[in-house]
Amino acid sequence: VKFKDYPLSDALLKAIEKLNFKNPTKVQQAVIPVALENKDILCKAQTGSGKTAAFGIPICELLDWEENKPQALVLTPTRELAIQVHEDIFNIGRFKRVKVSALYGKSPIRRQEKELKQKTHVVVGTPGRVMDHIVRGTLLTDEIKYLIIDEADEMLNMGFIDQVEEIINEMPKDRVTMLFSATLEPEIQRLSKRYMKEPLIIEI
Ligand code: AMP
Repeated sequence: VKFKDYPLSDALLKAIEKLNFKNPTKVQQAVIPVALENKDILCKAQTGSGKTAAFGIPICELLDWEENKPQALVLTPTRELAIQVHEDIFNIGRFKRVKVSALYGKSPIRRQEKELKQKTHVVVGTPGRVMDHIVRGTLLTDEIKYLIIDEADEMLNMGFIDQVEEIINEMPKDRVTMLFSATLEPEIQRLSKRYMKEPLIIEI
């Protein structure tokens, strides 16, 4: 399988080429075609498998550039991962001029607020800071169509699960949810049953 076999725009294919991704990884082969059809996905995948591009490519492809409010929210357990995912999605979306914002703690909230006042398509952040912005009304959730929970098992380990559920409850009901986790332990299955719509389960 090649990236050009997927229904991707030239802007996305050009970015993939620039990133020097020759062929889709296993997790990308499983996730990309299904995500492009707007289906929920529960995916067991490790770091290094190419999971970021597996969700980054379809969300960049599907989002509407004209819409000014955020359309995708990616939750990550750590600030470092938020920064990494922000960079990866920026690179994937660069030729579509996709706007990506990162929200994490121990960084001035004012600057993030200013950034959120501009057009932004994809927001990547840690649960605490994301919830802060939702409560302040600086992160608008009504146009969010894609919710990605990255490294969900780490969210559990770090005690973020209640915050993650609070955030999910702020999302529009009509949305696509993708959950990535290194394990599919019972608590992850519970989350999936509770908040996802007949997800395709992918185990790589
Ligand atoms: P991740 O699992 O998302 O942390 O990605 C691990 C690394 O693989 C990152 O450095 C990506 O840039 C790289 N990568 C992702 N997809 C591909 C691909 N299809 N071909 C080559 N490298 C890739």
